[in-house]
Amino acid sequence: MNNEHNSHSLDPEDWDTFRAQSHQMLDDMLDYQAHLRERSVWQPIPAELRAGFREPLPQQPAELSEVHQRFMQEVLPYAVGNAHPGFMGWVHGGGTPVGMVAEMLAAGLNANLGGRDQMPIEVEKQILHWVRELFGFPKTASGLFVTGASLANFIALLVARTSALGEAVRIDGLKNHQLVAYTSAGAHGCITQAMELAGIGSAALRLIPLNAQFQMNTAALEQAIAADRAAGLTPFFIAATSGTVDVGAIDDLDTIADIAQREKLWLHIDGALGALGMLSPDIAPRLAGINRADSIAFDFHKWGQAPYDAGFILVRDAELHRHTFASPAAYLRRETRGIAANSPWPCDFGPDLSRGFRALKVWFTLKTYGAAQLGEMISGTCMLANHLAERIAATPQLELLAPVALNVVCFRYRFPNSDTASLNRLNAELAIRLQESGRVAPSTTTLNGALAIRAAIVNHRTNSTDIDSLIETTLLCALAMMRT
Ligand SMILES: *Cc1c(COP(=O)(O)O)cnc(C)c1O
Repeated sequence: MNNEHNSHSLDPEDWDTFRAQSHQMLDDMLDYQAHLRERSVWQPIPAELRAGFREPLPQQPAELSEVHQRFMQEVLPYAVGNAHPGFMGWVHGGGTPVGMVAEMLAAGLNANLGGRDQMPIEVEKQILHWVRELFGFPKTASGLFVTGASLANFIALLVARTSALGEAVRIDGLKNHQLVAYTSAGAHGCITQAMELAGIGSAALRLIPLNAQFQMNTAALEQAIAADRAAGLTPFFIAATSGTVDVGAIDDLDTIADIAQREKLWLHIDGALGALGMLSPDIAPRLAGINRADSIAFDFHKWGQAPYDAGFILVRDAELHRHTFASPAAYLRRETRGIAANSPWPCDFGPDLSRGFRALKVWFTLKTYGAAQLGEMISGTCMLANHLAERIAATPQLELLAPVALNVVCFRYRFPNSDTASLNRLNAELAIRLQESGRVAPSTTTLNGALAIRAAIVNHRTNSTDIDSLIETTLLCALAMMRT
């Protein structure tokens, strides 16, 4: 068939019209980013708009401009709001205009980074070189972009399982091996889930109690390992956290590394939130010991501000990493020349075969802003968190519920004459009202039975006026609640 008569192509018939429309779409998103502050952080989705997204599969084409208008009016205004400077909920990065345009380039190229001999994989390897340098890992360490730290933590656990039981575990399964793993009670739930997914079971995960700084109690860790050994079990894995999701606490990585070394256990660090603190000269010393890990999971989409999604897994022992995942397949045959060269491929280091070009937005981010500027931004978010903690301490109606180690601040309103249950209920309501105000959006967590309003200052756009607005809006909303 003659290509010029190919009626199946999805390319535009009129590139000039398409180009004009594309430029409009780019301009609209640049306007969105430039004017975020004029918008609400978040607003509820009107029922009729939600219902509009239950339509049947469209059979007929529509104009791109119409679909774009629908996006502008019905999707864009009802996102979660993490690009907005007033967003402080969960641990979400803000994204950048640089990351956004890099995503467009990646989509245009439509590279599949599962393998083969292509420059996009060299871009991903460039990031691997940079993060090895950042975390003091050897040049032989392996690494990979994945969706997020949840998957990165899971991959680390699987590599540690190979280290403990040998590659045969892939064929034989766990058999009678009774592997036991350790993390702190402040660890992210994805560590528990990784144990479940790995077939080891979450009952074999010891949640070590926290000290007053919300760090893993390392004496309790040693006792737990000894008790498990005495019971004939096989300790194999410790997941320390650099920046817990609740309060941003950093485990004592050096002490835990000593224990792991002595006990010959795999030391993994969940650095989803905090590991990129290594970019900041102020914060890096608090992460001392991170270079001693066997593996580190972290996210470029949080403090790194890369657009979602961009998690990363770094593994000291590349061979062990590869032996955990690589499988021969006739259709994935390797060559020394041609497109099938440049083995091993990224698909040999993780469960994904088809993989997008996540590396490009991170490469653009690191090249365009430079590590020093990103470090200053990270350090700035911690300074804002300290400012918030000081304002809370100076406001008698408010109470700080955890020490501030990094960029996360947990507090509550002291509703008068309230027991714990009603304080929890009222503060949960208060957090919702803050979100509904459209000005600031914290989330909540529970610390030692107390419901905390939790502000995680991750977004590079957040400044001290947003912190002040959080305090003022909290006081106003609480007053309104007490009046009704
Ligand atoms: C966010 C977070 C995770 C999960 O990371 P995702 O990128 O959301 O998968 C894991 N651990 C910690 C400490 C986190 O903050």
